[in-house]
Amino acid sequence: MFIEYKNCIYCKSKNLTIEKDQSYLENFYVKAIKSDLNLSSDNLKKIKIHKCNRCNILQNSPWFNADTSLKIYSNIYGQHNRNWTNLINFMEKQLKPNHGFLFNILTKNIKVKNYAEFNSPFMGLFINFFENEYKKNKSFYKNFSKNILNYLSARQTAGKSKNFQKTSPKKAKKYLKQINNFKNKKTKKQIFIQDGN
Ligand SMILES: [Zn+2]
Repeated sequence: MFIEYKNCIYCKSKNLTIEKDQSYLENFYVKAIKSDLNLSSDNLKKIKIHKCNRCNILQNSPWFNADTSLKIYSNIYGQHNRNWTNLINFMEKQLKPNHGFLFNILTKNIKVKNYAEFNSPFMGLFINFFENEYKKNKSFYKNFSKNILNYLSARQTAGKSKNFQKTSPKKAKKYLKQINNFKNKKTKKQIFIQDGN
């Protein structure tokens, strides 16, 4: 289930040192992993944080092997709670994840034409770019997200009643049209979102 990493995962340097702070936090994800993989806290505490002295990246070793990682990302908690919470917090309360001054520094120094977050969207600066592009009011964000969720729900027909399946294409079309109306304008920049599900 676990494999040891002797070299830096990014630059392949062998020059890794163990970090002083190895605090162990049992959050929502850790609890799900423990339960589904039958692991104890002691098993997980064997995972240590190492720092690469060449590129400064922090990394865990030992870490889950490829098969187990895939299981964790796609099954154990495929629907990433934290990133969807980020999106909902913004759409409902205009709260953004705290990235310090990163967005300001980045956009001041680099002209970003395209921005994408794959597999775990809304964890990075996506919401900042979105807000910058759609400087709208509270009701805009609320209605926009309501239609997006309605559209996505209308497309989830597996196991639903015959009537639901029959009416869902029409509903999906209606919500998608509303989403497009909300956008108002053709955007110059392209934004991509993709979730692992
Ligand atoms: Zn490195």
